[in-house]
Amino acid sequence: MPLSQAQKRELEAKMQEFVGLPISEPKPGRDAVNEPMIRQWCDAMADENPIYWDAAAAKEAGYDGVVAPPTMLQAWTMQGFEMAEGYDVPKNNEHRLHKLLTDHGYTSVVATNTDQGYTRYLAPGDVVTANTVIESISEEKATALGIGYFINTRTTFTDQDGDEVGWLTFRVLKFVPQQQPQAADDGGAGAAAAPGIIRPPMGHDNGWWWELVQDGVLAIQRCNGCGALHHPPRPMCNQCRSMDMGHVEASGRGTVHSFTVIRHPQFPGYDMPILAALIDLEEGTRIVSNVVDCRPEDVHIGMKVTCRIDEVEDGFKLPVFVPAG
Ligand SMILES: [Zn+2]
Repeated sequence: MPLSQAQKRELEAKMQEFVGLPISEPKPGRDAVNEPMIRQWCDAMADENPIYWDAAAAKEAGYDGVVAPPTMLQAWTMQGFEMAEGYDVPKNNEHRLHKLLTDHGYTSVVATNTDQGYTRYLAPGDVVTANTVIESISEEKATALGIGYFINTRTTFTDQDGDEVGWLTFRVLKFVPQQQPQAADDGGAGAAAAPGIIRPPMGHDNGWWWELVQDGVLAIQRCNGCGALHHPPRPMCNQCRSMDMGHVEASGRGTVHSFTVIRHPQFPGYDMPILAALIDLEEGTRIVSNVVDCRPEDVHIGMKVTCRIDEVEDGFKLPVFVPAG
């Protein structure tokens, strides 16, 4: 049942009471800024800037010692799984605000924007605290997902002296999901089409790669200047800055570098669970794909896989990976 105008005004007045409130007590990071976490971050992000791990290089660049990558800012104050129990019993103001909206039919949530700013470099030993405030709530908006409200939060990160080291804004849309079209009773011409998979956007830089997939080829972009291989395709070589690009055909042999089993949310049009994996191709590049014909409990890091190009629907083809052999 949609809310009446009076109910909506009452809801909006209650929502506005949250604006300006901290979402919770300030959250100090569980660990001080430290070199092992920096190294693991750099490994995961393939960031080879030596000022993050080599004290001599950092000093040469004008720092007192190694510094943390600025983009790690939020990582220093991230919580464990204690927040992951759901919002049925709200534990902080943000949960209470979300539950208020959920209870009025705005049951879905999606993150839409985030921005970060860095005031100074962090170094090992710094203790970071996050202070998050509910900054603003929009008026009701009609979006492609459904009607809802944008909720903006702003986090200020401070150090052990209480000085700001950076900030982060985060916006979510809390919305009423649109009703699925009802199939006509006779199942005839009025029946809604079954939802399908989300097609990848194909632009100037990657359209050619998808066209080759449709021809049954798994390609890897190759720089004609220096021979470096890249995936996903890009306009310029990050090794030699050439914009002259060709490609090679991948053998399709690879190894699972990492994976995740996606059980929720259950997207219409997909067979759940989805085994999403990062595959190391034997040529040396990585690709994100799905592992299929494999039980979730059987996927493992280091597993040998082979590419297969599957027709997923309406003639559209997608490269997936199956256990080798
Ligand atoms: Zn190159």
